[in-house]
Amino acid sequence: MAALRPQVLFPLFAKVTTLPGIGPRLVKLVEKVAGENVADLLWHLPSGIVDRRFAPKVGDAPPGRIATLIVEVLAHSPPPPRSKVPYRITCGDATGKITLVFFRGDADYLEKVLPVGEERVVSGKIELFDGKRQMSHPDHIGTLQQLDDIKRVEPVYPMTEGLSPKILDKAIRAALAKAPELPEWLDAAYQQRQGWQPWREALLAAHAPASDEDLLPTLPARARLAYDELLSNQLALALVRLKARVRRGRSLVGDGTLRTKVQSALPYTLTGAQGRALEEIFADMASDTRMLRLLQGDVGSGKTVVALLALLAAVEAGAQAALMAPTEILAQQHFETIRPLCAAAGVRVELLTGRSKGAARTALIEDIAAGRVPIVIGTHALFQKDVEFHDLAFAVIDEQHKFGVHQRLELSDKGSGTDVLVMTATPIPRTLTLTAYGDMDVSRLDEKPPGRMPVDTRLVSLERLDEIVAGIQRAVNNGAKVYWVCPLVEESELIDLAAAEERYAHLKAVLGDTVALIHGKMKPAEKDAAMDSFAGPRGAKVLVATTVIEVGVDVPDATIMVIEHAERFGLAQLHQLRGRIGRGGKSGTCLLLYAPPLTLTAKSRLETMRDTEDGFVIAEEDLRLRGGGEVLGTRQSGMPEFKMADIVAHGELLVAARDDVKLILSRDPALETPRGEALRTLLYLFGQDEAVRTLRSG
Ligand code: ADP
Ligand code: MG
Repeated sequence: MAALRPQVLFPLFAKVTTLPGIGPRLVKLVEKVAGENVADLLWHLPSGIVDRRFAPKVGDAPPGRIATLIVEVLAHSPPPPRSKVPYRITCGDATGKITLVFFRGDADYLEKVLPVGEERVVSGKIELFDGKRQMSHPDHIGTLQQLDDIKRVEPVYPMTEGLSPKILDKAIRAALAKAPELPEWLDAAYQQRQGWQPWREALLAAHAPASDEDLLPTLPARARLAYDELLSNQLALALVRLKARVRRGRSLVGDGTLRTKVQSALPYTLTGAQGRALEEIFADMASDTRMLRLLQGDVGSGKTVVALLALLAAVEAGAQAALMAPTEILAQQHFETIRPLCAAAGVRVELLTGRSKGAARTALIEDIAAGRVPIVIGTHALFQKDVEFHDLAFAVIDEQHKFGVHQRLELSDKGSGTDVLVMTATPIPRTLTLTAYGDMDVSRLDEKPPGRMPVDTRLVSLERLDEIVAGIQRAVNNGAKVYWVCPLVEESELIDLAAAEERYAHLKAVLGDTVALIHGKMKPAEKDAAMDSFAGPRGAKVLVATTVIEVGVDVPDATIMVIEHAERFGLAQLHQLRGRIGRGGKSGTCLLLYAPPLTLTAKSRLETMRDTEDGFVIAEEDLRLRGGGEVLGTRQSGMPEFKMADIVAHGELLVAARDDVKLILSRDPALETPRGEALRTLLYLFGQDEAVRTLRSG
């Protein structure tokens, strides 16, 4: 039996089509703006207000203001047939008159809602036309009984085109009416200190702002809802991790022979940061609880050799080890770096990707299953059902934000008690690390290998393209190698691809055959050819590429990087791209080409790139300028998206939630106390069913 959502939550997990006014046509729009379930509408908080409490007499109603008027309907003036003139209705009270104006007004409808001789309530903006008061398309028309419903502070919700505010508002009211009282999952003392209402009250209050201040993230009701969301996030991560830990790990201790051989084959000595990270990793491996550690380090900080030495420690201990990369190119790159070093230690290493086919694949899989391959490098092809390891004890996941939590655990399921090391090149601010990984152990490579040269970064308008191309031509004539990166955004993939091809043709026309093109839609063999040509001594000098992944290859003698439409990239992405140059002992130049005019934020972001090369500074700045949801640039970033919590505004609540979870799980790891039961409800409320399941299967 799957985990069971508590019955009290059933109404919230009904589809939005169960709400009044949401039929098959509107459901798509509601799903787009909020989500498919009633609960998603609860999380859709107002972004503004319209104050309709101002209710003057008609003669006093000032133009330009929103007002709610009680009027008598005096006369209808429909337009003559086929004319463009609007339908007009004259209304008034003892103090004056006002004309209601309806372009393409429907006579039947208007006669029904505004019958002559009756009193009605209308609310909307007062305008002045030809010196007379009018109101075009009132926002609300109602009877006197409906006065109180109309004359209020109305919340304004984030909208999408084609959806009417009235319909959305009505659906949200209906959703709120279904919100049940829920058992309190907050710690009573903490709740009291914060002055927070119970969940349902907070929800209703957050949807009923009376002033602009009530829209701030610091509003107690909003803060509470944000805390609930963060608490469920932290609790879910901690439970998944607890489960991974409870399954016993094994102690992996090698004798150091293989590592010594590889280290003496390296043309350099390890940096202090690499040494520290390895100490931490070896200590985790030696302990018999399962390891789940994040290795964070900027591009070029030397993660690969750290991973390799950890893999070798597992092999020394008599087990198998695997390294998984998010793309074939990166897997291939790791393989090529690692193979010669492993050869120095006499250790067999193989590559398994989607490209492995036929008899060679079959033979390889047999060798892996028989334990004849101590180190396997690959892509998610390692997940395939028929890939079985003899004894997988250690897995490194080079994730670059492409894998989710569950995939991470999936690979470790290929072994029993497999230790996992996750590597990431994106410097993630501390707060975001928490939301994505929970309170995971982290090793940071915060010291660059010696010999890295600074990169001179400049911002240049695309209007100066000709000058830039001329400059590139001079540099190429002097032997430089140049990356030319074009953006590729999922939503406009075809247009972007065309733009990249056009740029390629343009550069080729100017620079001749020294230009190569690589993009994700090319066949693997074509990609290889382009890469090999650019990496080799006599091949292409300019590589036109889309996105990070295609240029994820190490070409140490490339010194120039041009990034077109830099304003469309995330800062983390720009930082990663720039890290590809200035590696081979020569300083680099990075040109960030932007399409003017830049917004203030965009300008500020690009200036940050120009002014620093410190990935953590860049990440913090990006977070500050854009907020958590966008910091990594793309939706596929693997970072959780929050509906109500704002990582910047609610950063302290996140830390509090983490500490709260620590305490909860130390006292009640199976969530069996009354508060534990309430916390289960919280997890279900935020769709963390998987996390609850870890409690049942044990
Ligand atoms: P990352 O994977 O963190 O981006 P790499 O592992 O690819 O970085 O390392 C970048 C480059 O630095 C490689 O060419 C590697 O050989 C080199 N390198 C790694 N560690 C050191 C070190 N301690 N001293 C000098 N060079 C190093
Ligand atoms: Mg690397």
